Amino acid sequence: MKNDLLKKLGETKLKELISRYYSSEKISDLIEEFQLDIKISGLYKLFPLKELKDNKCAYCNIALKQRYPSRSSLKYNQPIAFCGTCEHRDIFDCFCNHCKVIENEMGLHAIAEHQRKIGGIQTIRTDNVNLTDLSLMQAISLLGMCRLGRGEDSDLISPVNTYYPELAPTEMMTIDIVESLYAKQLIDIALTTPEGTVTFNEVGSLIDFDLLNVHWCLNLSKNESNNVDLIEQLEEMVRKKELWPNTWEGELLDIWKELALHQCYRYLQILVEDHGFQFRAGKKTRKILSVVLEDFSILKSYYFIWVAVHNAASYYLRNTTSKRQAANMIIGDIQRRSERALAEEWDVKEYSKNSRCGESILIALFSTLTTSLGRGFFTKIPVISAFSNTTRDCAN
Ligand SMILES: [Zn+2]
Ligand SMILES: [Zn+2]
Repeated sequence: MKNDLLKKLGETKLKELISRYYSSEKISDLIEEFQLDIKISGLYKLFPLKELKDNKCAYCNIALKQRYPSRSSLKYNQPIAFCGTCEHRDIFDCFCNHCKVIENEMGLHAIAEHQRKIGGIQTIRTDNVNLTDLSLMQAISLLGMCRLGRGEDSDLISPVNTYYPELAPTEMMTIDIVESLYAKQLIDIALTTPEGTVTFNEVGSLIDFDLLNVHWCLNLSKNESNNVDLIEQLEEMVRKKELWPNTWEGELLDIWKELALHQCYRYLQILVEDHGFQFRAGKKTRKILSVVLEDFSILKSYYFIWVAVHNAASYYLRNTTSKRQAANMIIGDIQRRSERALAEEWDVKEYSKNSRCGESILIALFSTLTTSLGRGFFTKIPVISAFSNTTRDCAN
């Protein structure tokens, strides 16, 4: 068609037509004068392609071509220049075959660069970690992470946020645990961690990382493949009390208390959110719940928590108080009621485990592998004498 127009008019006449079209002459007059059999809106589409002598294809080194724009679109945008040979288009996000190859190469380059930076912050071990240097808490935390996130025969551990069940009863505790394992250089950020999960400054130093979403790898050995063997040794060590370092026994009660406390936080948090209240466990909550757990098991502590949250909810409904004020009453209620229960020797009933407040892997490992507490973890008061009939060596 375009050639037809050129053939019909000849080069000189065509140039004149184009020039007069853009000098805003009436299109119907032009069509008539040049004796063209076309619609008014179709005229500019018949103009031949322009060759842009100063704009060459980056791949073929020949002049790019461009269509003539319509008069009305002239002030908005220019048609995109393109290569008649390779179809490359002169735009930022061209998808021609050449540009796709370049983009892939750049993508691979970016990945390699990202991995180089991760490699730069990894700890290089010169020897194997001595497993007896680990605390009991670190040992079961590491086993927990491996059980939930490690693939078969692999030293890679998936992000903590993907675990089911959770690693620890609360996110607060999970963060503390993972931070401790990382600080002790028992785990490292894996090369496979996605770009968005770590932030570097211009000189490649680590500024920040998303602790719950980074990919981890074991860092127990100078030799990657030994990591898996060392985890198996650690599991054996936790299981058999005769292999325990001297310090572990002394940690048992503290671990129980800490896990129990966080299990109560979690129960409290679930009930509070069910009632649309906002509540953050702070120092006061920690103090009061720790005192409650000195005299009551977790399931009995649930009773005080349950009653306090329901009292606050009904107080909120009956009075013109804010949710915040109502929520603030909860912890005081737990304190008063538990003190009265103790003074008046109430027979406090055990509340059942809430299905949404299930057992995290740490509680499972602690109550079955490290001790033989089993359900006693929830039904006994966390005191040292509770272990006397339940620690594994006595049970065996
Ligand atoms: Zn080209
Ligand atoms: Zn292209």
